[in-house]
Amino acid sequence: MSIFNLNTQNENLDNKIVAGLERLSHVFKALLWEKAKEHSLSPIQIQLLIFILNHTQEKSTVSYLAKEFNVTKPTISDAVRILEAKKMIEKSTDLNDTRSYTILLTEIGKKIVAETEDFPNPVTKIISQASDDDKEIIWKNISDLIIGLNRLNIIDVQRTCYNCKYYSQVGSEHFCDLLVMKLEDRDIRIDCPEFHDKSMAY
Ligand code: SF4
Repeated sequence: MSIFNLNTQNENLDNKIVAGLERLSHVFKALLWEKAKEHSLSPIQIQLLIFILNHTQEKSTVSYLAKEFNVTKPTISDAVRILEAKKMIEKSTDLNDTRSYTILLTEIGKKIVAETEDFPNPVTKIISQASDDDKEIIWKNISDLIIGLNRLNIIDVQRTCYNCKYYSQVGSEHFCDLLVMKLEDRDIRIDCPEFHDKSMAY
C-alpha cells in the first residue's frame, strides 16, 4: 500500500500524515537550496557550517558529521575539501594522530552561517502563530517520531533526553537528573548540549 497512491492516501489519515511529512521534507530542501545557490555552495556544505558553529569541537570530525547527516565519510570529506579551499573552515590536527582532525570555522565561514541559518524562517513564522496547546501537541508527536525512527536505526545520532544518561522516568513523568527538574513534554530536547549517551561506558 503506497502513500503516494491518491486513493490509499486520501482514504487513510495515517497515509495523509506521512504524505504531509514527506511534502514538508521537500520544503526544507527547497529553502536550503535557495541559500545554497546564493552562496555557490551545496546544501550539505551549508548544513556542515551551521552544525559546526553550533556544536562542540569533538563533534566536528568527519566520522561524527557523516553519522549526523546520514551520509558517507567520503561525502563529508569532499564537502570539507571544498569549504577549506573557499577558506570557510580550517582543520585542527590531532597531535597524537596526525590523520585525525577536527574542523573549525573561519571568520568567512561564520559570516556564511549568519547569512544562511535563517533558511527555516518561513516555517518558524507559521509555527509561531499556533496556540501553545497546539505547539505542545506538535512537539510531542515530532519528538516521539524522531525517537521512534532512531530506535529503528533509521536516523543515527540523536542527542535526545530519551537516550541520555541523565534522563529518568517515573510512571508517565520525565526527569533530568543533571538539570534537577521535571521535564514536561515541551522540555524534552532533541539536541541538548549537556547530552551524555547512556549507552556509553563510563
Ligand atoms: S541533560 Fe539534556 S538531554 Fe539529558 S536529560 Fe537533561 S535535558 Fe535531556
